[in-house]
Amino acid sequence: MEFLKNYINGELVAPSSGRYIDNYEPATGKVYSQIPDSDEVDVQSAVESAKNAFESWKNLSNEQRHDHLINVSRLIEQRIDEFALAESKDNGKPFKLAQRVDIPRAVSNFKFYATAIMNWGSESHNMSGKAINYTLRQPLGPVGCISPWNLPLYLFSWKIAPALATGNTVIAKPSEITPYTAYLLSKVCMEAGLPAGVLNIVHGLGTKAGEAIIQNNQIKAISFTGGTKTGAHIASVVAPKFKKLSLELGGKNPNIIFADCNYELMLKTTVNSSFSNQGQICLCGSRIFVESSIYEKFKKDFVAAVSKMAIGDPNEPKTQIGAVVSKPHMEKILSYIELAKTEGGKVLTGGERFFPQDRCAEGYFIKPTIIEGLDYMCRTNQEEIFGPVVTITPFHSEDEVLKMANSTEYGLACSIWTENITRAHKMAENIESGIVWINCWLLRDLRTPFGGVKNSGVGREGGSEALDFFTEPKNVCIQYG
Ligand code: NDP
Repeated sequence: MEFLKNYINGELVAPSSGRYIDNYEPATGKVYSQIPDSDEVDVQSAVESAKNAFESWKNLSNEQRHDHLINVSRLIEQRIDEFALAESKDNGKPFKLAQRVDIPRAVSNFKFYATAIMNWGSESHNMSGKAINYTLRQPLGPVGCISPWNLPLYLFSWKIAPALATGNTVIAKPSEITPYTAYLLSKVCMEAGLPAGVLNIVHGLGTKAGEAIIQNNQIKAISFTGGTKTGAHIASVVAPKFKKLSLELGGKNPNIIFADCNYELMLKTTVNSSFSNQGQICLCGSRIFVESSIYEKFKKDFVAAVSKMAIGDPNEPKTQIGAVVSKPHMEKILSYIELAKTEGGKVLTGGERFFPQDRCAEGYFIKPTIIEGLDYMCRTNQEEIFGPVVTITPFHSEDEVLKMANSTEYGLACSIWTENITRAHKMAENIESGIVWINCWLLRDLRTPFGGVKNSGVGREGGSEALDFFTEPKNVCIQYG
């Protein structure tokens, strides 16, 4: 049994308490490693190490920090398969998905922010011959990065890379449910020669290690991605401490399909946007609204395509649907399917666990599930399920679908399918959502602002938004003469 370690002050160290937590492989339901059950003592030691490293790290030139981040990215890139296998084992996602999406994106995150910092500038404001103002953008100090289990290294590195590029030092906590690639990242950082204390990775429970990070007064900012309830708690702790706070939270994304869409492209993409990563991507479309004139055709074709999806061992190259991340999460998803039935929903396909006949016989698999016949305001259509479950609902007009799409407390992402450019623009303008994809899904340019409105979050990541977040602007005004 492997025992993972924290990465503090450039070294791999055991938790101070000596306590560990079981780490499960969701595809088999078996414990395969042990994670440090870190507490405030470990977090304080990471904070001391980050404080000590801060002055020298922030005083490096942008080019020197660029070089360090590129070294990290190259080492991950050389080991894509090793990282992808680890991600798949830890999370339950198909190996092929981790190899094609998760790990290459983590590499890109480091590359993107390594080069972004080389090209970044700050503003100046000229007061017509009297004076000039310029803005210094200074790093904050030790910052906290807390990420969820669904895209483990992808989202972990999405925070760490801009924080480091801008000259901050970092105390980061991956989800205790999926810690393994963060552990591999610590080894890579050691091999890449990242200076000690610049990045510290503390493993453990959100309510213990995570709580110690948000409570710590020496940590100057918190960048958090996770559930809306946890985000609300973090905001209540962090706001009175006047730390900077970025929150990327839950979603209940609409996928709006008009009859004039490119049907084949829409159908293929909708299968992906519904069930990729077992529906456990914050950007997955879980409420599918279909114009009534093509509703029956869509229903038939969508159910046929989804029923054929290969589900099972994440190691198998043909697998499209792996295991969901944990037993409690599986039970939560199944309880929502039961709720949908009591709310009058009809399960068109799926709706139950799947039991493979191989090494994964005790794994946490749920068949991709499509439900129809629900009111748009019912709990199934309002609450985040975060699993392989979607609902389909017909609509008759733009106004009606906008009302249904905007009815939830969330506003992260949406997809709109139409070949009518006027309608596409109008819908994009009126939808309450941080991200709008038209005739596509999950097409990402890392320069764009990323985040949600309403209860899906506060602030934006991506591009210069993250560089702004991880720096404090200081205006300097110089009078002439
Ligand atoms: P959680 O909110 O449960 O956890 C997220 C992270 O916060 C984990 O590392 C968790 O640790 C930690 N945490 C939990 N409690 C605390 C606390 N009191 N103080 C500090 N940290 C804490 O979310 P999930 O991991 O279940 O992730 C799923 C959610 O994330 C979904 O709602 C999804 O929509 C959202 N998400 C949003 C994205 C976005 O960009 N908007 C992207 C991806 C996911 P531990 O796991 O160890 O308990």
